[in-house]
Amino acid sequence: MIPAEFDYVAPDTLEDAIKAVSDGGEDAKLLAGGHSLIPLMKLRLATPSLLVDLRKVPGLHGIQRENGSWRIGALTAHTELEHSPELGLLSVAAGTIADPQVRNRGTIGGSLVHGDPASDLPAVLLIIEGGVTLTGASGQRTVEAADLFRDYLETAVEHGEVLTEVRVPTLEGWGFGYQKFNRRSEDWAMVAVSAVVKKSGDTAEDVRIGLTNMGSVPLRASAAEEALRGQPLTAETIASAAEQAAEGTDPPADLNASPDYKRHLARVLCRRALTEAAGLS
Ligand SMILES: Cc1cc2nc3c(=O)[nH]c(=O)nc-3n(C[C@H](O)[C@H](O)[C@H](O)COP(=O)(O)OP(=O)(O)OC[C@H]3O[C@@H](n4cnc5c(N)ncnc54)[C@H](O)[C@@H]3O)c2cc1C
Repeated sequence: MIPAEFDYVAPDTLEDAIKAVSDGGEDAKLLAGGHSLIPLMKLRLATPSLLVDLRKVPGLHGIQRENGSWRIGALTAHTELEHSPELGLLSVAAGTIADPQVRNRGTIGGSLVHGDPASDLPAVLLIIEGGVTLTGASGQRTVEAADLFRDYLETAVEHGEVLTEVRVPTLEGWGFGYQKFNRRSEDWAMVAVSAVVKKSGDTAEDVRIGLTNMGSVPLRASAAEEALRGQPLTAETIASAAEQAAEGTDPPADLNASPDYKRHLARVLCRRALTEAAGLS
């Protein structure tokens, strides 16, 4: 499939990129790794008149530690996250994205702005309670993950804003688990569950659970979190909390699974992710 005709620019500075995409109007799109946008263009589900490639913009790559957080440049590829085990859950989840070709090109910024609830990184950012920096013509603003994902393929990023940086708390001392279920290896998640657990002795001092592809946005399994918080971490308490993983969700049917099957997967994967995060597996 061949995309519709478009103009292409690759500015050398962030200011020029912001100006180019703003001047281009609503039909201008930023381009990062191209592994979500270009397939949509090939299917003619997106027909931008102008692509503004971010690849020459300096300062958008790399991972740096600052106080209790990691600062990750928006153009950092999934493969770099995968090979940065110090990022914990984010690194493990990035390693499950598609195949090496996609991981070498796709970027953390592109994945978050695309806002696909079946993508691996959005729910992870949600439960590690990270945030993003958005830079536009009138300056910078930060948006917490809880406010970033608005609807299916819709985020709080406005036209003319570039997601420049992702901030990720280090969550030292927390255990984590990631469980992704798909029909073919290297595919998008039919459902995935991420979990982080802070232990105090054998008790769950705090628990956060993320659900991927269980609705139009990434979700937290709040009922299951609440059920386990403050409880002793045993196979029984985890199994009981995981039974509530799908509470309040309304997952859409798709080619691979009915809503009921997705709810079943959420419960099973939640038990496994919590068991992993609690260090009981
Ligand atoms: C075969 C295949 C399998 C895949 N499997 C998975 C999978 O299993 N799990 C998964 O999570 N993902 C999967 N993906 C998606 C992949 O991770 C994409 O790379 C990612 O979702 C988008 O990142 P990108 O850098 O390619 O963004 P692009 O495609 O370049 O851009 C995506 C969108 O974000 C905007 N954008 C990009 N960067 C910025 C920025 N810095 N600031 C503002 N707007 C920006 C663009 O304008 C566009 O609207 C798959 C893709 C393919 C092709």
